[in-house]
Amino acid sequence: MPTHLTVKGVVLRETPVGEADKLFDLMTENGILTVRARSVRKAGSKYAAVTQSFSCGEFCLRVSGERYYLDSAVPIELFYGLRTDLNALALAAYFSEVIRKTATQQSQPQLLRLFFMSLQHLSQQDRPAELVKAVFELRLATVLGMAPNLICCGVCMEYLPEQIVLRICDADFVCADCYIPRPAPEGTEEPVLSGSRAVLQAARHIVFSEDNRLFQFRLGGRSLHILAEYAEQYLLHRLEMYFPTLKFYRGLLMPEAPA
Ligand SMILES: [Zn+2]
Repeated sequence: MPTHLTVKGVVLRETPVGEADKLFDLMTENGILTVRARSVRKAGSKYAAVTQSFSCGEFCLRVSGERYYLDSAVPIELFYGLRTDLNALALAAYFSEVIRKTATQQSQPQLLRLFFMSLQHLSQQDRPAELVKAVFELRLATVLGMAPNLICCGVCMEYLPEQIVLRICDADFVCADCYIPRPAPEGTEEPVLSGSRAVLQAARHIVFSEDNRLFQFRLGGRSLHILAEYAEQYLLHRLEMYFPTLKFYRGLLMPEAPA
């Protein structure tokens, strides 16, 4: 068994331990490793920044049994833009929680790339945060093998209708003309979202595009809100999980309650 391991990864979260150590979860191409870093919370530690949450670097680890210890690390990208914007930081924490709860110990290089690119756009603020979040959520569902079927209308097979209805539970879409509402099991209406063909084209792009073109599209206004609402509802429905970090992020976006 090798006693040393060099891996590239992004820090998912950090926890202080003892007087000056910390434990951090590191997302790598081969799953998540928990690493102990000695004395990195001491003033002047040269590994303080690279072992912070959301830092990306190359880490040289010492392996002892099932445990990993930090020997050295070289930063690749520290995403300083995240540290100065509370909304971006809150979204990064949400992405991190989703990754921690869905990553497996198998090789998932696509998941690591998605996390890295999403942090990059959040940090650079070159895309609306709402768009970055939608891409992360819908692409994550795709990477995990839970992509919705967006090839054509589930009823008449039309490829690109003018107006569509995205059906969350059926994981597909139908044209507005083909849509017949059905009661959901609890007596409520089934969750659906109505949108234009621009929403469909954007959702298709997120599901089908190459990694390097994933964020290369534009969408704004009401269509972006619908895409964002769809991506979140779809992912939460498929994962059946609760994310406290998402609740926190939503709280930040809420207007202040009147006094
Ligand atoms: Zn149709």
